[in-house]
Amino acid sequence: MIGSGRCPSALVIGGGLAGIASAARLAESGWRVTLLEARTSLGGRAFSFEDPESGRELDNGQHVIVGACHNLVSFFERLGVRDLWYVQPRLNVDVYDRAGRRGKLYGLGGPAPGHLLSAFLTYRHLSVGDKCRAVRGVIAAMLAKRSAPEMDTISFYDWLRSHGQSERCIYNLWNVIIEGTLNDNISDVSAAMGLMIVQDGLLKGRLESNIGYPKAPLGRAIGLPSETYLRQLGVRMLLGCPARGIEVGADGMVRCVVTGDHQMMSADAYVCAVPFWVLPGLIPDHLAGRAPFNSLTGLRASPIVNVHLDYDRRVMDGDFCYFLDSPLQWVFNGSGIRGTDRQGEGQSLTVSISAAWDQIDLPRPELANSIAEEMRAAFPKARDAQLVKSTVVKQRNATFRCTPGAQRIRPTPSTASPNLFLAGEWTDTGWPSTMEGAIISGYNAAAAAISSLGGAADASEENSGPPMV
Ligand SMILES: Cc1cc2nc3c(=O)[nH]c(=O)nc-3n(C[C@H](O)[C@H](O)[C@H](O)COP(=O)(O)OP(=O)(O)OC[C@H]3O[C@@H](n4cnc5c(N)ncnc54)[C@H](O)[C@@H]3O)c2cc1C
Repeated sequence: MIGSGRCPSALVIGGGLAGIASAARLAESGWRVTLLEARTSLGGRAFSFEDPESGRELDNGQHVIVGACHNLVSFFERLGVRDLWYVQPRLNVDVYDRAGRRGKLYGLGGPAPGHLLSAFLTYRHLSVGDKCRAVRGVIAAMLAKRSAPEMDTISFYDWLRSHGQSERCIYNLWNVIIEGTLNDNISDVSAAMGLMIVQDGLLKGRLESNIGYPKAPLGRAIGLPSETYLRQLGVRMLLGCPARGIEVGADGMVRCVVTGDHQMMSADAYVCAVPFWVLPGLIPDHLAGRAPFNSLTGLRASPIVNVHLDYDRRVMDGDFCYFLDSPLQWVFNGSGIRGTDRQGEGQSLTVSISAAWDQIDLPRPELANSIAEEMRAAFPKARDAQLVKSTVVKQRNATFRCTPGAQRIRPTPSTASPNLFLAGEWTDTGWPSTMEGAIISGYNAAAAAISSLGGAADASEENSGPPMV
């Protein structure tokens, strides 16, 4: 415990949402906080950049939220950017098959989970038998105990099969929900995490599955406002300042963090909020062989590829839609979402490909051409339109994989070193690799630091945030 009368100090390494949330929570609790970020801006894996040719700001990837992201949305409110994030008043997703037939996943006004019943029964991409199977699957998912150890040993695909779900049910319904949220194929994710998405994201409440997205580039919707907010809280921010190593004394206490320019920075507590593949390179060898660090090699990441397409005319109506059995997966109408979609003018669309194992190593021109071809097949208006520009953004390590066994590896914020705490969406938050998970992890690390060194803070605001409409 820190002696009375002195504000404790913290050094937070990493300025993604986990580090931002941790720094904010500690500063709000009266701590003196310094944040080190390797890059020159905050936001981590949720960032935008200026396209050198067009001067337009492009996101590294389409970021989507759902109504269940309570901590994230209440954080956006604190940043003053809630109005930069649109959230549907009711779930409404158009799902097309390769023949161009449209099915709809939508929510009605009644209480959950009944609000989804009519969507399941009228969903065009399931046969009558599949619809009955889907309802049976929903009931089984509601009753399932996802925390049971065996749920982290089998895939969600196997769990669904063992609960009567046909291939068609799995790929035309369940995978639509899972592939984008977990950034992996349904046969590669654990039953525990698949059930988390279905139970908490779909069935728990009427508003939880409503889909949202930023109306501005991510830099303006996350990075810049976070910087302003942390400065207002008095956080000292060192941008473009990577940590090179964490020095730990014989007593197991962290002594200092050595920065890229060989400064030695010390504090009472250290929150390490870097990706799981960066962490082992920062800690000394004698810690690397001990839990939880020695098991981090068991975590893996999966890729996302986004293809930004600028057409000379309007080719898409609506804000977004999903394509079954197509490499397009999700297509977002960037012009519509940002309010620049005008009749007679060009349109900017984004194709967002999750679990992009087949695309990540393709040369960009080849990938852009094949996606443009798929767009012509999917959108009749794209056949006459001229594709003015395409930009491929590849993120190889986009999200950690929720494969069977991953849950056991995700560490708690506290470590064997009494003043070193871990944050990052990959730590044990109960959430998959999402912005909500990152915020929760930051709060958890701050709460662990405060409870071991002084002060008081709630770990997360789960369910205390405002309902999302
Ligand atoms: C293309 C793409 C699409 C995505 N889509 C969604 C989505 O739709 N919805 C959703 O919720 N989530 C989505 N995600 C995931 C989401 O962006 C991440 O889960 C979240 O941003 C992770 O935050 P974090 O703070 O835990 O980690 P990070 O954002 O990775 O932050 C870690 C920070 O540490 C910094 N750092 C690394 N090494 C050092 C060092 N040595 N010293 C100092 N700083 C260092 C990094 O620069 C980075 O800023 C997507 C991710 C990608 C890449």
